[in-house]
Amino acid sequence: MKVSAEVCPLCEGTGWKPVSKGSDQRVARCDCRRRARSQTLLGAANIPKRYEHCELSNFEFDGPHSGLASSRMAACRFAEEYPLDKTGLLLVGSIGVGKTHLAVGIIKELILGKGFACLFCDYRELLKQIQNSYNASVQATELEVLRPIFDAEILVLDELGAAKPTEWVADTVGLILNTRYNDNRTTIITTNYPDDPGESMAPPTSDFGRAQRALRKDTLGDRIGERMRSRLHEMCRIIRMDGEDFRQKFRSASFR
Ligand SMILES: [Zn+2]
Repeated sequence: MKVSAEVCPLCEGTGWKPVSKGSDQRVARCDCRRRARSQTLLGAANIPKRYEHCELSNFEFDGPHSGLASSRMAACRFAEEYPLDKTGLLLVGSIGVGKTHLAVGIIKELILGKGFACLFCDYRELLKQIQNSYNASVQATELEVLRPIFDAEILVLDELGAAKPTEWVADTVGLILNTRYNDNRTTIITTNYPDDPGESMAPPTSDFGRAQRALRKDTLGDRIGERMRSRLHEMCRIIRMDGEDFRQKFRSASFR
């Protein structure tokens, strides 16, 4: 952490500022310390460069994006209510709809506004790191890679399901989600895969689901297994980010 060369005029470098209420003299944590803590937390959150600018306030939800207004509202509500409500979020939608933007916007709000420690984690990257840790020449052990993922107060797991599903992948995802579930930790998940059952013949529950299945057979159930999908439903509130948007496009196309 960088130590400021100038002494803070509010607290004169002590970290505590005087607060007076009538004749009552007290001290409170100074803003300079709070700012320093925010910057430390922000640095530790591991937000990728390409998403650094993402805030809840600059998420577009007007004009062609009007179908996303309710998603943004749900994200804002989540940031507001945490930690009273620690239920996580599952942001479901196709590529480019802004799932990661919202997820990053939420954790920035929690870091800067409330001082909570958050961690951003790319699903594929994480699996690669864990696999690497099995290599004898690599210093980090599997547990060393996973420890921060287990311990993060609020974890963003970006692009869940993006890695080719294998038994090992299923076991690893299971370990991560079950550990966080058992420790009552909050997880914000994004996925490109529709939140529908795997393999079975159950019909998709939405237009988006049907279209998605026609284009690409895989569902979230296929990618992480049915058991983990139902665990997710216990851990997260689901935000479908393109159902409305898609229907809107579909409708206008059919009227042309
Ligand atoms: Zn100060």
